Amino acid sequence: MLEIIAKKRDHGELTADEINDFIEGYTSGRIPDYQASALLMSIYLNGMNFNEASHLAMAMRDSGERLNWPAELGPLIDKHSTGGVGDKISLILAPVVAACGLTDPMIAGRGLGHTGGTLDKLESIPGFRVDLTATELHAALLKSKIVINGATGSLAPADKKLYALRDVTGTVASIPLIASSIMSKKLAAGINGLVMDVKCGQGAFMKQLPAAQELARTLVRIGQNAGVKMTAVITNMDAPLGLAIGNSLEVKEALAVLHGQGPKDIRQLTLALAAHMLVLGNKAKTFKQAYQRAGQTLNDGSAFAAFRQMVTVQGGDTRYVDRPELFPVSQQQVTITAAKPGYLAAIDSYQLGMAVVKMGGGRLIKGTPIKHQVGIVLAKKVSTTIQKGDLLATVHCEGIDDDLLIEIQNAFQITAAPVTAEPLILDTINS
Ligand code: URA
Repeated sequence: MLEIIAKKRDHGELTADEINDFIEGYTSGRIPDYQASALLMSIYLNGMNFNEASHLAMAMRDSGERLNWPAELGPLIDKHSTGGVGDKISLILAPVVAACGLTDPMIAGRGLGHTGGTLDKLESIPGFRVDLTATELHAALLKSKIVINGATGSLAPADKKLYALRDVTGTVASIPLIASSIMSKKLAAGINGLVMDVKCGQGAFMKQLPAAQELARTLVRIGQNAGVKMTAVITNMDAPLGLAIGNSLEVKEALAVLHGQGPKDIRQLTLALAAHMLVLGNKAKTFKQAYQRAGQTLNDGSAFAAFRQMVTVQGGDTRYVDRPELFPVSQQQVTITAAKPGYLAAIDSYQLGMAVVKMGGGRLIKGTPIKHQVGIVLAKKVSTTIQKGDLLATVHCEGIDDDLLIEIQNAFQITAAPVTAEPLILDTINS
């Protein structure tokens, strides 16, 4: 291990054997945390080339169980986001593609840092289970074509252990480490195709487009090496997606979109990602056809029906799906208004994501329970004209201190000069 650390410290290229040795040794407990931390920091500082990142992903994939699916399910195509604020796309996208005939065993995550997690959002529906066993996953997929579940303990255990170590050693935001971490779990889940939503901007792990493009290329290349069809879409994460941030508030917004309503950006991004999935899964010939087909499922109720079916199969209480007004509301709603007239130039998604975490909508300490009902609902999107006193957002909280309210207010930047909203989709990288 000492030689492996020294090699990476001195900018060397690690071989597949060296990487396998490290992953096997660290997963089994033979290699201690301090040596693994030293190697992670060397990788963080000196990087890895495509081959090394790919070997790392495969070694982590092979550290545990690999899921196998019966051929009758057809090609399994999944989507994964690198993490954003207000990103409830998976809740809508999975039912959309199911309604178009695709199967997706989606392994999703919990909130990480300032970003929200799909599993936490779904758990705001009472009874919804995200811990299905491999046998239950099979049965659920046969019934509803989609399942959104957490990674079982035996899926890529090396990543689980390494991720926890990265979290406390300042080594999360590394392109090869992020790419190999994501791909190890996706490859172990036995999918045939993957659409990656690589977030870029203020509220993303990758703040600048060149870094997001490099992450996207690394993800695509790792997938290709493993025989998985890949498309990576780089999307804007400067401002929050949609209007709602916070678990049950986001589920309610997702339900609105599933009924053909809701914010335009959510619908647009969902349909674009769904269209890429349908093309990868041979359910449509062209992106345009696929986009239209996906759009129909939001208008004709079939995507909503697929969501309802998934909730039933995963043990959730469908009364909340049918009547979203049943979701508990927070004790307090505080309004944020514009202090001056002008144009809404920016909404800092990182600040708002962190504010929701601090209000209890996410975790500051590993494993703590979260308050599903807290969050922020925006009243305006970037580039809107603002009058003094206009409502900018409503904060749903269980008591809030003034400092946090000021942080939330400061997340809204109003300028005298007009601004145009940035495009939602910044780039697309195919395999
Ligand atoms: N998501 C992951 O699964 N891993 C990372 O390293 C970052 C985001």
